[in-house]
Amino acid sequence: MRPPLDIKIGDILLLRKPHPCGGSEWEVYRIGADIGLRCRTCGRCVLLPRFRVESRVKRITRPPG
Ligand SMILES: [Zn+2]
Repeated sequence: MRPPLDIKIGDILLLRKPHPCGGSEWEVYRIGADIGLRCRTCGRCVLLPRFRVESRVKRITRPPG
């Protein structure tokens, strides 16, 4: 069992599966049972169940400050 990922609003997630627009970086805008992500390339927003986000995350980048 992996521990739950530490995901916070404002984090930038690099996902394994790129968006159809070609971007693979997503900004977290909402935390809960579902996690809200905004594509940094095209600006589209999606809500994904947490387990799905966790299975796709390759890297988490936390902007300073
Ligand atoms: Zn996109």
